[in-house]
This record gives sequence, C-alpha cells and structure tokens, in this order.
Amino acid sequence: MLGEVSKILAKSSMAIAFTGAGISAESGIPTFRGKDGLWRKYRAEELATPEAFKRDPKLVWEFYKWRIKKILEAKPNPAHIALAELEKMGIIKAVITQNVDDLHREAGSKNVIELHGNIFRVKCTSCSYREYLKESDRIGWLLSQELPRCPKCGSLLRPDVVWFGEALPEKELTTAFSLAKKADVVLVVGTSGVVYPAAYIPYIVKESGGIVVEINIEPSAITPIADFFLRGKAGEVLPKLVEEIRRISK
Ligand code: NAD
Repeated sequence: MLGEVSKILAKSSMAIAFTGAGISAESGIPTFRGKDGLWRKYRAEELATPEAFKRDPKLVWEFYKWRIKKILEAKPNPAHIALAELEKMGIIKAVITQNVDDLHREAGSKNVIELHGNIFRVKCTSCSYREYLKESDRIGWLLSQELPRCPKCGSLLRPDVVWFGEALPEKELTTAFSLAKKADVVLVVGTSGVVYPAAYIPYIVKESGGIVVEINIEPSAITPIADFFLRGKAGEVLPKLVEEIRRISK
C-alpha cells in the first residue's frame, strides 16, 4: 500500500497535508485525547475555553505556561521533517494544521496554515494588540508573568489560540477550505477528526474528487472515507513514504 501511495503522491500536482496532535506525539507533546492528556486533575477541554479564562485567568495562564515550557523542550520529529521535505520536493503545497506548537515551521515547512492559532502568540482581550513572542524574543518575559498585560492598553493578554466553542480565524479557514477544494491528495496525519470545522478538510477533498490518505496509529473518524489507511506512527510511516517517492522519481 505504501508503494501505491508513493506513486500517487509522486504524480500528484496539488497535495496537501492535514495534521493533528498525533503528529507531535513522538516529539513528546501529549495529545488531548490520549492517556497522557491530563494536566493536574483537569482535562484540556475544561481549561481551553473562554469561560475558564473568565472564571480563573491565573489557572488558565498557568496551564498555558506549562504547555509552552513543554513545547519549548520539544523538537520536530521525523514526521514533521518528512512533510517539510515533501514541500521542498514540490509535492505538498501546504500543511494545514490543528496544532499550536509551531513544530511544522521549526521543521522547515513554509506554507503552514494554523487553524487553531499558535501557542507562541498572544493577543489582547481588549484592543487589537497581537504579538508573536518567538519573533520579539519575549517568551521568557511571558513565562515570568502571573497575568501578562497588554503593553499597549494594559488589559489582560490571552493565548492566541482557538479555544473550545470559539470561531476559527476566518482567513485561515477560507484558505484551508479553498486548498482542500483544489487538492488532488490529502495526507491526514495524527488527528482524531472530531474537532469541527477543521475536520471538514478531508471531506472537502474527497467530495472534490481528491484522494484521502490517512496515517494514524489507530482508526479515527476519518478512516471510513480514507482511500488508503497507513496504520503506524507518523514518524515512521512518513519518512518511508519520502524515501520511496525519491526512489521511484529517480
Ligand atoms: P486528538 O488528541 O483528538 O487525536 C490525536 C490523534 O493522533 C488520534 O487519532 C491518535 O490515534 C493519533 N496518534 C497518536 N499518536 C500518533 C502517532 N505517533 N502517529 C500517528 N498518529 C498518532 O488530536 P486532534 O485531532 O489534533 O484534536 C485535538 C485538538 O487539540 C486540536 O485541534 C489542537 O488544537 C489541540 N492540541 C494541539 C496540540 C499540539 O499543538 N501539539 C496538542 C494537543 C492538542
């Protein structure tokens, strides 16, 4: 099956990747729904919400600072690197991710569409202030704050991520849907496919006549529509695909 998928990818003119927390699991970042997904006694769904932030911003910031520290320790794994390679080879045109960990960019992917924001960005709860802390070199500053405040207006800052119950960034969602309509192949990697509207992506590809290739350690909500299901760890399957595509493209 890997051979067949490699041939399809080598011939494709507009492949995209759609990734979820599972692609970063081998980098040591727990998924939300996996058995390591708990923080203290809380489930992420209880903390990553606007209501939780309103109720107890200190607790929510504590959770996010913990996540930022964990993610800072993580490095892109062979799966992120393989997707960046596929982009360099001209096969993948974009990576649409539900992850907030920035690891696709760290791995060298250039066209990354973040549907759920980025944990290294903050935004003001009152004014239009936004900051990408990696660029401004202020991650250390953020981690030293109990309740970080906007440098412009003094209001509370919040993580620039999409919380449960919130709308996705319009520009990113429109771009992602339009890429999905045009894609002839989508590689669906490490997602349970239950978080909407992001999970529409593989359905849009399928309905537009594209091929759905799924890589996951276990079946997901997407599996019933997958044309190919490559069962295994993303960090093992994706490098094999790249190797095979290189071999047949020589
Ligand atoms: P999820 O936790 O619902 O599902 C993870 C999926 O990855 C599962 O289907 C699991 O079987 C699979 N998986 C686990 N390890 C794998 C591996 N090594 N190789 C291949 N597949 C593997 O994640 P989701 O679908 O992305 O939805 C959770 C939401 O939570 C996302 O929208 C995201 O915003 C957020 N989140 C992000 C991160 C991150 O940025 N790294 C981490 C946790 C949660």
